[in-house]
Amino acid sequence: MTEPTRHDTRLDRFVDNYSERTNGMRVSAVRALFAVANRPEIVSLAGGMPNIADLPLPDIAESMAEMVRTRGTQIMQYGSGQGEPEFREQILDVMALEGITAHPDDVVVTAGSQQGLDLVTRIFCNPGDVVLAESPSYVGALGTFLSYQAEVVHVPCDDDGLNPTALRETIARVQAEGKRIKFLYTIPNFNNPSGVTQPLHRRREVLEVCRAGGVLVVEDNPYGLLALDADPVPAMRSLDDEVIYLGSFSKTFAPGFRVGWVLAPHAVREKLTLAQESATLCPPVFSQFAIGNYLRNHDWKGQVDVFRDMYRDRRDAMLSTLHETMPAGTSWTQPAGGFFVWVTLPEGLDAQAMLPRGVNARVAFVPGSAFYADGQGARNVRLSFCFPPAERIQLGVKRFADVVRRELEV
Ligand code: PMP
Repeated sequence: MTEPTRHDTRLDRFVDNYSERTNGMRVSAVRALFAVANRPEIVSLAGGMPNIADLPLPDIAESMAEMVRTRGTQIMQYGSGQGEPEFREQILDVMALEGITAHPDDVVVTAGSQQGLDLVTRIFCNPGDVVLAESPSYVGALGTFLSYQAEVVHVPCDDDGLNPTALRETIARVQAEGKRIKFLYTIPNFNNPSGVTQPLHRRREVLEVCRAGGVLVVEDNPYGLLALDADPVPAMRSLDDEVIYLGSFSKTFAPGFRVGWVLAPHAVREKLTLAQESATLCPPVFSQFAIGNYLRNHDWKGQVDVFRDMYRDRRDAMLSTLHETMPAGTSWTQPAGGFFVWVTLPEGLDAQAMLPRGVNARVAFVPGSAFYADGQGARNVRLSFCFPPAERIQLGVKRFADVVRRELEV
């Protein structure tokens, strides 16, 4: 399915002027789905938008007004390219919840962790360099790697995430081909899209394999505090100071502020700040103060608990309805947090081909191939439980199960 577009590339007068890297840029599969998925009759299990309806808006409005009154135009000025010092201190308190200790100088504030991904890729990757990623991996990260003409090599995973033996073999194979691996990109908590979490012993093994192979680790952890069953597993960065860590306020507060951060070893942080300055001069100052204010004046951890209760209900609604309705031969993951369930369809089915029939049956989902750079994932589907209420999720999963059943009859 393609997004309706207002311009026709055949008439593009600029076609000879674009840089080669634009060839790697793709329309996001999720964005392409949005126009359809937003129709009210369709239950969208496609998007990954956090549900922030429970935020205490009157309190936030009041304390923002107070912030403008007391701080005045300071919060509307250009600021530090690395991010506001006071705010970077507060970020340390957030990371401490996942076992990380660090110095505020080693934090670079970004416009969402998506910009963190962009800056990390920008400072490390030349065209043709290899980035290792989970099978499957976050579509937005793959897009960034490809836009810098990096080659993405997927590492096989099991129920505990990256398989250390496969990781070791992949590193050896790629290096034997004479290619440079710039980093391993991993989402150890509640992977987007698979929902899988690496247990502590697995994190240690992965770090060990990467250390032995001389491969840098980039840990992306936007969902870490949205553990739905147990306390979060310590972050990989808490086990190894050389890990580059990406954090975000998009899921614990609100994505529209566009604030995330990178925690990196000193030398890398210097390069990231230079890259940040050339990208944006400085990360959004108003947003940093607004979030700093929210962290200081609100029971933000209590609010994360409210989010967790809501997402737990929705996750449970999705898993129990999948259990009740899916035809034999289908399997799915059991996420302990985050937003997503990863479904493997019965043999012979093709999720991409099934999508228009899903939309006809008024349910939207993301075909699994979006989460691979190499065409895998034909039999997979990502279902998200974050946005629709539990009853809509149940309805959507029932419709989805009917679509799969009909595919099997053909
Ligand atoms: N990483 C992962 C794994 C994500 O799922 C997302 C958002 N969907 C991001 C990074 C980007 O988040 P943001 O830029 O809003 O912090």
